[in-house]
Amino acid sequence: MAQRILEPGQIETLAQRSIPRVRLPDRTDLFVRRASRLRELAEAAPIGDYLRLLAVVADAQHAALAGVDVPLPTPAQRDVARGHHMPPVPAVGWPRSAHWRATLASIGDAVAARSGFPAEVERLAGRVGRAPAAWVEAQADALLGATDGAIDAAAAPFLMAALQVHWVAMSSRLAADDVAPLDVPGLCPVCGSTPVASVVRAQSAYRGYRYLHCPLCACEWHLVRVQCSRCGAAGKDIAYRSLVRDDGMAGDDAAHGQGTAVRAETCDRCHGYRKILYQEADPDVDPVADDLATLALDLLLAEQGYARASGNPLLWQPDA
Ligand SMILES: [Zn+2]
Ligand SMILES: [Zn+2]
Repeated sequence: MAQRILEPGQIETLAQRSIPRVRLPDRTDLFVRRASRLRELAEAAPIGDYLRLLAVVADAQHAALAGVDVPLPTPAQRDVARGHHMPPVPAVGWPRSAHWRATLASIGDAVAARSGFPAEVERLAGRVGRAPAAWVEAQADALLGATDGAIDAAAAPFLMAALQVHWVAMSSRLAADDVAPLDVPGLCPVCGSTPVASVVRAQSAYRGYRYLHCPLCACEWHLVRVQCSRCGAAGKDIAYRSLVRDDGMAGDDAAHGQGTAVRAETCDRCHGYRKILYQEADPDVDPVADDLATLALDLLLAEQGYARASGNPLLWQPDA
């Protein structure tokens, strides 16, 4: 068949089909869906009790988000951020209103009020909820990477949960036009965090496109498939591994047929990996929840010499 040059009308049609660059979170259901997913995954996961605790935390996040009203960047601040390819509400440097500490206290109260958790969880929730403001702010700085202070690994998931509420309150009220692509494609264009995992979406506007998911503000941004989200390598360096079947398949990750909804996308250039979730295989996948529920995959990859590209906001290892 002879090759034809596109007519102007056809060019416009193609432009309309261009890939949505970002997906900003929906504050009405983000944490509701996550709580439901955590409870579902808890039935089969080896860390089911922990996922049930985090489901209570997610319920408290949803309740807190309804009452949060944080100031957004001004139009002038948004213009500057866009013009300089900077995140409009950076995790490091954006002033946190004191409101987020009230959210932290409410999450602690919600967990402490729920019976059925071990006494030490109840004590931890109470301790976090009543912690002095200076300590809480110093921990938040360390968690967000602003300082390299020691992190309290037990308290960290509670603090991150409160910070998520604070940042989602902002990201969910931005418009896609406020968000310019960064010069570093592996960082969240809203807050500059590294992604927790990626998702191949199945909803109509996003069908088949892969998005990296921010663990802090829940923004998702597009990255082409079969590419390392850590170093940018593509092609033969990329392979997919799952707990169901370790086929090390390179190339088109779409061709996995009945395969699992969660796989690891490994890179043989940087020897790192992040998980990739397939909404087509399970419409309810959640990057934060499904990542936690597949810790066995992390153990398998560690044995094979691959390093996690970045952590999960709701699970912290004690400092060595
Ligand atoms: Zn973000
Ligand atoms: Zn890589």
